[in-house]
Amino acid sequence: MKLMDKSNRSNLRLQRDLKLAVSEYAPGSKLVANGMLIESTGLKLIDGKQLPLHHYTYCKSCNKYTYVGKYGVNDETEIPCDKCMDPLRVKYYAIPKFGFYGKAKELSTERRPDKAYGSRVFFADHAEESIQPLHVEGNGYELDYLYSHYGNLSIVNDNKGQQYFVCESCGSHVDHKRAHTSPLGHKCSSKKRLTVRNAPISLGHQFTTDILRMSFNFNNGSFYTNQTKPILSCTR
Ligand SMILES: [Zn+2]
Ligand SMILES: [Zn+2]
Repeated sequence: MKLMDKSNRSNLRLQRDLKLAVSEYAPGSKLVANGMLIESTGLKLIDGKQLPLHHYTYCKSCNKYTYVGKYGVNDETEIPCDKCMDPLRVKYYAIPKFGFYGKAKELSTERRPDKAYGSRVFFADHAEESIQPLHVEGNGYELDYLYSHYGNLSIVNDNKGQQYFVCESCGSHVDHKRAHTSPLGHKCSSKKRLTVRNAPISLGHQFTTDILRMSFNFNNGSFYTNQTKPILSCTR
């Protein structure tokens, strides 16, 4: 994160892995560092360079996030939930790979900020060649075990369901079309927002890690119950 106030830049270095930054440095988030209260003022954008975009869905009924693919992979705007088949609108997350802007002030008697809203992590996909499947049958159960060193996980901050209207020109989060203050404190009158099909975007990131997925089928007495519980494990 780059701070607006030059005097604070030298003695405060705010580096975060993007996994954490997508929620802790998201526009509007506040954090305390070196006795200073830091407030994120927006995303850093670079002229002529786009932020990577990915598709995903979120099902409110079963609380399931599903990764759909990179932007441009398909044009579907609605797909059924993997779990309950409810029709879901495809949403998008942008990876803020150029970082964020923030402003710092002395931490006075002001209440410490609430912890940043947590992002959600979910399984995206894995490299096919890295899979080591295993099938085990025991007394009343079957287990399918899948392990990969190269699982891709997605992390999404959807601003508590509201998502973000990021100004295409300055990187501020502004949910109206009027003039506003840019992350560096200047006046910005751009009306364009980073939207996909006129919808706001979430902030996100994708990373590779070890994954383990176990699916159990239980044979319960006279009838067969099919309970599939994927277990996600990040070990790196
Ligand atoms: Zn569902
Ligand atoms: Zn702007």
